[in-house]
Amino acid sequence: MSQNNKQVTYDDNNIFAKMLSGDIPYHKVYEDDKTLAFMDIMPQAEGHVLVIPKQKAVDLADLEPEYAAAVLMTCKKVMQAQRQVFEREGIIQMQLNGTQAGQTVFHYHVHLIPSSIHELGRHAVTQVENDQLADMAEKLATAIES
Ligand code: 5GP
Repeated sequence: MSQNNKQVTYDDNNIFAKMLSGDIPYHKVYEDDKTLAFMDIMPQAEGHVLVIPKQKAVDLADLEPEYAAAVLMTCKKVMQAQRQVFEREGIIQMQLNGTQAGQTVFHYHVHLIPSSIHELGRHAVTQVENDQLADMAEKLATAIES
């Protein structure tokens, strides 16, 4: 494999792995046996959620079919909750593969962003207050449960 398409190896100490092991706090939206969904702390729009598999995958290339299916089903739940809570139709589903694409955390994740392609905020720049994230996580979790 050439230098240009060299893949990062999975690091057990990446931020999302530490969330899965309970070593780093996060604002949970949804969890099942194969996936976890939580608020992005530097959102590109209000209500930005990340969905991750409970599998050690750097990016899409590593994702096993059962986890791919599980992530997509969790994305559907979260997106429907976002539509309800934020009273909007438009939700962007985004996923970056590799440094060149702008990926910054090397545990596979899907971004679900209540925004439009014309209004999307900057990627991973501005941190939001914990209480705001907690409030949104609670509303989304309640919408998923109902
Ligand atoms: P990527 O660039 O890998 O596609 O996206 C990584 C995402 O993780 C970014 O949107 C960034 O805001 C988010 N992020 C980075 N560090 C943390 C963190 O410690 N907690 C949470 N909840 N999100 C994070």
